[in-house]
Formats: sequence, C-alpha cells, structure tokens
Amino acid sequence: MRCSDHEGSGQGERLQARDSQNGRNMYRDVPLIITATPNVSWLYPEVRYPRTIEALVQEAARCQAAGAAILHVHAEAQWAETVEALQSASDMIIQCGMSSLPIPERMDVFHQGADMISVIASHHDEAFSEVDVHVLHPREELIEYAALARAYGVKLEMEIWHAGSAWNLRYMIDRGLLEPPCFTSLFFGWPGGTWSPPTVEEYLSRIRVLPLDAVKTVSAMGGEQLQLLATAIAHGDHVRVGTEDHPFNRAGEHASTHELVAEIVELASALGRPIASPAEARTMVGLPGRKAVRGAA
Ligand SMILES: [Zn+2]
Repeated sequence: MRCSDHEGSGQGERLQARDSQNGRNMYRDVPLIITATPNVSWLYPEVRYPRTIEALVQEAARCQAAGAAILHVHAEAQWAETVEALQSASDMIIQCGMSSLPIPERMDVFHQGADMISVIASHHDEAFSEVDVHVLHPREELIEYAALARAYGVKLEMEIWHAGSAWNLRYMIDRGLLEPPCFTSLFFGWPGGTWSPPTVEEYLSRIRVLPLDAVKTVSAMGGEQLQLLATAIAHGDHVRVGTEDHPFNRAGEHASTHELVAEIVELASALGRPIASPAEARTMVGLPGRKAVRGAA
C-alpha cells in the first residue's frame, strides 16, 4: 500500500461530485481536523506564547477543549521532555515542527515516539521579522526521513509550499516511501522565496496537483487567513491556527491559540462542518491510538 498517485482536485470537490441526489454538500460529513500552533509568531515576535513545558501542557488542554485535534509544537529545544509531558497529559496528535533543523537534531522526536514530524518537501527560504531562514533539503533527505518514519512509526507531515513541493511529494509516492494517506500542510502567504499568494485561486490550483486521498491542512499568514481557511473548511479540507501562523482574532486583536481555535470552531459550525476529536483525527490520518504508539516505542 502507498499513497495514491491519482491526480485530482480536493476531497470536497470529489464529494460534491457524488452529491447531486439530496442537494446537500457531502463535505459536511468530513470532520474538520484543527491543528493548533501555540508557538513563536514569526512575524510578530512580541506576541506571548507558552515557552515552558508546563505552560505548553496547559495551553494544549485549552486548545483540545476548544476543538483542536493536533498540536504543532517547537518544544524550545527540549524535544524529549516536551513530547513526553504532552503524551502523558493529552491525547491530541503531537506534531513536531521546526522542519528547518537537520535530522541529527530531530532524533529525539523519533526516539520519543511523537505522532508526527514536519518535513518540508522543498527548501526553506523564509523572510521572518527577526530571522532569515535558508536551508537546502535534497531529495536524499526526504528518503532518509521516510526510512526513519517507517522504523520509528512516526508519521511524516509533508509541508507543501508550492507546486514544486507537490512534485517532490510525487517523487516519494512513486518510490512507495509514504504510508497512505499522505498528510500534507499547504502554506500560503508566508514571506520569503517560497511565498505563494494567499488567494482562493492559489489554494484551488495547489490541491489540484496533490493526490486525491491526501489529507490537506491549510496554513496562511496575514489578513487573508480567514478567507483561505473558510474556503478550505467549505471544501472539505482542514486548517491550522495559532500564534505561529497569525496571532490575531477576527476583531484584529492579539489572541491566544485556544481563542483562535474557538473562532474556527464557530466558523466551521456556521458552515456545517463537524469537528474531529483527536481519536477521529487519528483514524482519518492513519495513526494508531496513543497506547499502540507507546507499546511500539
Ligand atoms: Zn512550526
């Protein structure tokens, strides 16, 4: 088994296509997976976020209570301790970010048996407020990540920044390197050389070059975030929110990550999308339950 190499449009479009009988959009039957990103705001570094393990565990509980199923963490260089604390305190899917780091600095994520690890499917070229990020990631590194994912039972979150990232994803699929379903995050409006326009047109064009059965999560920076996330929700795809992506609520005020999750739940409710629990999200992305992960670690 491997990720589908079938090209096509989004899950929502596919579902809508077989929906003509009852006049109801089938996307409403796909639970929305919300990823919470309670990390440093790359564009507004003055924004507060949980910097200790204890504070992160507390914010994780608030994000889960608000409706998030995945927690994307940076761990402030304490990967093993942070993942262990979150595994004990929460049943959210723990997704370890900072994909710009070299593999040797990420081995704690594998050894600790986190649920997911973020892997950029192209190069880093980001122009943030206080840091420029430039890191090359050759395809050999993607192959190495795939081997580690298989050995340690950690799922790859494939970051798709533009159509070229999708080409690299296809490269991995063609070699049978990814367990289905592929889990992807699509980035829009992040400044730098891998910037892409935060527009509905760009979203629709991106999902057309991704496998039909890939799980797609949309991340957007900037004031266009709401339009992008609302489109993804109405299209049957998934979203991520938090201080890392865009630390403002709809009123334009600074907000904590769990408050941003609550806003998305409200929006999803208006659009008729149910919210995925961590257990439902695990099934949808092909992850075993937490106990099975621990037993294998
Ligand atoms: Zn991150």
